[in-house]
This record gives sequence, structure tokens and C-alpha cells, in this order.
Amino acid sequence: MFNYNEEKVRMEPTDTKCQYCKTGNSTNADDNHYIPMFKTKDSTYLIVYSYVKYQQVDVGISRCASCRSIHDHAAQRATLIAWVSAIAFVILIFAIWGIWGILGIFGGLIIGFLGTFLIQVKLVSDKDIHTKYEGIKDNPGVLELKLHGWSLKNPAA
Ligand SMILES: [Zn+2]
Repeated sequence: MFNYNEEKVRMEPTDTKCQYCKTGNSTNADDNHYIPMFKTKDSTYLIVYSYVKYQQVDVGISRCASCRSIHDHAAQRATLIAWVSAIAFVILIFAIWGIWGILGIFGGLIIGFLGTFLIQVKLVSDKDIHTKYEGIKDNPGVLELKLHGWSLKNPAA
């Protein structure tokens, strides 16, 4: 299901069908979306993936060039919009509350992080393709790795 790319320490999917639009094909391994996965059971002998020497590898989700560009543009725009709004919010709170505006910084951080996520989801959904997160959720390759003792969460964190 994956080819292990030892040089780049990543698993490249052998099935090139794009997991985001379901119509395109990944023509370049660099266009795939990569997410880190962690080995959780060291004692488990993974016959299929025992050649992976590391505790952490990047696992590729097939993605076509068009979906990659939609994801990248959405991420850039969402980050910009959310953080400009967050800064505007903090300035406004300072203007209203004076020194107590310092409390507004927490609100600003929430707007920044949550806003980036939500705007990104909106921009990508508008293009009728899956978001980066949706593509991971029901990916058969990721599910298979989970069955073999790999996790999306860092056990050391
Ligand atoms: Zn696609």
C-alpha cells in the first residue's frame, strides 16, 4: 500500500487516486499530503512495515496537483485573514479597556488559531474537495497503519 522512501523518511502511497477530489491522480509524490505517524508498540513485529527504522514517519495521502494548490492557497489566505482579524480585535479591546486589554490577547489567540482552521475548512469545502483533515480520517492506508500499532498522536508528547 506504501513505498517507504528511506531518504525522505516517508511512506509514499502506491495508489495514486486523489483522496481529496476522488477524480484526479497524484502525478508527483511531493504533491501528496503528508502527516506524521508514530510507532506506539515497539515490541510488535510489523511484518509489512518492519523495514521502517524510525519511531516517526510521514505518511502520504494521495493528492493531485490541483487539490494541493487549493489546500495551499486556502491555508495562506486563512492564516492571513484570521491573524489580521485577531490583531484588529486585540487593538480594539485595548482601545476600549485600556490596560485590561491585555485580557483581549487570549481572545486574539483563539481568533487566530480557531479562525485559521475554520476559514481554511470553509475555503476548501467551497471548492468541493475534502479538507486535509477529512482526507486523513477514512484513509485506508492510515487505518491499516493504526491496526499495526501506529498512531497519529505522538506518544512522547
Ligand atoms: Zn484532487
